Amino acid sequence: MEDSIKYFRELQRNCSSQLYGNLEEVLMYRKKQLNLNDKKLKKIVKKFKNRSFLKYEEKLYNQKIAKPFLDVLPLEVSEKLRDVYIGILPTYKINASATKAPHGKPIIKLHCQLMTAIAHYNETQMLYGEISKNSEANDDFLCKSYLEICNCFIYQPYLPKMSLLPPLLNQEKLQLVYRKTFLHELFIIAHEYAHIYLGHLEIKTEDKTLMQKCELDADLQAVKWIFEAINNKKMKGFQSLPYYFAIEIFVLFHILEVNSSTYNDDKIITDLHKKLTPEEYCMRKMNLINEYINLINKDLITNDHDHPKAVVRLVNILVNTKDLIDEEGQRFLLGMLHNVVYYETFKLNS
Ligand SMILES: [Zn+2]
Repeated sequence: MEDSIKYFRELQRNCSSQLYGNLEEVLMYRKKQLNLNDKKLKKIVKKFKNRSFLKYEEKLYNQKIAKPFLDVLPLEVSEKLRDVYIGILPTYKINASATKAPHGKPIIKLHCQLMTAIAHYNETQMLYGEISKNSEANDDFLCKSYLEICNCFIYQPYLPKMSLLPPLLNQEKLQLVYRKTFLHELFIIAHEYAHIYLGHLEIKTEDKTLMQKCELDADLQAVKWIFEAINNKKMKGFQSLPYYFAIEIFVLFHILEVNSSTYNDDKIITDLHKKLTPEEYCMRKMNLINEYINLINKDLITNDHDHPKAVVRLVNILVNTKDLIDEEGQRFLLGMLHNVVYYETFKLNS
């Protein structure tokens, strides 16, 4: 572990950008929302002043998210993963990966821009619900806020503007946003753990089909672990959230893909507001299922990427976890699939 931490410090020194917003600025923006007075605010700023934020965040991921997760997994699994250090890279690239450090031990790299994007997405979702409650659904807000994440993804270096998220959520709702964000981060970590556990780091290949299949396997393993950990064993700190919320991360990935070059399908009409006929909707769904079957059974891929499309990954999870998910969870997943298929062309106007 010590060697892995040392390696991360070296990597972090080589990252030119320090990617955290000014804490005082963030707290000022959220002052009313968090019920902070000046004295309290100053106290928090002072407390964090001398700490390295990266070390603080790493402790959070290793101790508060990964450890309780490993604690409830079967011993045979947790023994293999216990020594994997999770480190943060302060770069603008939205990414995470499992890799081997020079001393040979597997490590997990989380890029902080990915965490920022997840938090921004979840707060947008919650705000959209709140705003739409009192007035008509505010699609303009939704699109602007999503577009910001997409721009961060495409045009690095770039931090999502906080001002796009009006500080309207009460503490309870904001807490829910953070808990959901943690759950999505847990999915990312579990997915990377799965690559390590399933031996994917030993496979040296340029074959995109094989790489895409490895991604599907890692997704499935991650989901099974999360369902087991949270649903059956009531993992500490995550009890209050439905475990199937973890899979919503694919909606974020989908939005990023559709709005960047990773999802180049110009044949489909790109209009967020276009009402699809039932036939058009069914066609899209059929195409998607065919894409999944082609990858699984015929080793055929439609895009030359390391990862299958997020929607294909979602189908893979749906098909293979039917027996593990309760009725409510299945309804949630089917609703998500419906949305991503319906808004397959969720293109945001730039
Ligand atoms: Zn992966």
